[in-house]
Amino acid sequence: MYIISTKAMLNKAQQEGYAVPAFNIHNLETLQVVVETAAELRSPLIVAGTPGTFSYAGTGNIVAIAGDLAKTFNQPLAIHLDHHEQLADIESKVLSGVRSVMIDGSHHPFATNIELVKKVTDYCHRYDVSVEAELGRLGGQEDDLVVEGKDALYTNPEQAFEFVRQTGIDSLAVAIGTAHGLYAAEPKLDFDRLEEICQRVNIPLVLHGASGLSADDIRRAISLGICKVNVATELKIAFSGALKSYLASHPDASDPRHYMVPAKVAMKEVVRKVIADCGCEGKL
Ligand SMILES: [Zn+2]
Repeated sequence: MYIISTKAMLNKAQQEGYAVPAFNIHNLETLQVVVETAAELRSPLIVAGTPGTFSYAGTGNIVAIAGDLAKTFNQPLAIHLDHHEQLADIESKVLSGVRSVMIDGSHHPFATNIELVKKVTDYCHRYDVSVEAELGRLGGQEDDLVVEGKDALYTNPEQAFEFVRQTGIDSLAVAIGTAHGLYAAEPKLDFDRLEEICQRVNIPLVLHGASGLSADDIRRAISLGICKVNVATELKIAFSGALKSYLASHPDASDPRHYMVPAKVAMKEVVRKVIADCGCEGKL
């Protein structure tokens, strides 16, 4: 089995004190780079896609390509639904072979969030699919999900305990001061809050919006219970930056097999750095 859930891999990370990176993929090249690099470093791996990515690339295509790469590189991996909001959409993707789900009901009131997440968890656990949910809100933008910085609400540790107890989720995404996208100013993470959440909640915790965080911040967060680190923006910037500069210096380039190479090299560096920051090399 090459396409697996995140349950065992995150529980192992929690026990051994490291984090598993979740890379948002968008196309063949990002998938190739993350699988190949994780395999080289013997790192556990989550490849994630938002609803927008699955509609862009096609769920069947993502599952087939990720499954084939996993087999080729002997690299079991989780295909993860990032920030999904609709039960029917999740059900159809689970039936397509996905084994890891994030249901994001964080924009709903507490009770509605619990109700929605519980429905998704009940469904997913019948198929051994792991479920992540979010409590509190991150600032910034991820696809069509926009939260103004001032409205971003941090996770309440007491509520986190209740939320986990009532929903039966496998991992919890926390809001402690990170944001999606690029940071306008250096982020200040609320580590005291993270520590409090970790004391009340037994399941692995998830950090969204890790692009642009310092290695020190990531390591400190891991020491306080973070077991999954999400990276999207950093990969996109490396990819598009290298591609733009190659095309600027090679205006006649027309073969994607050539002009995609520097973009892949640039992404590979990001993947290596994230795996180093997560402390998960050799943990497959
Ligand atoms: Zn996120």
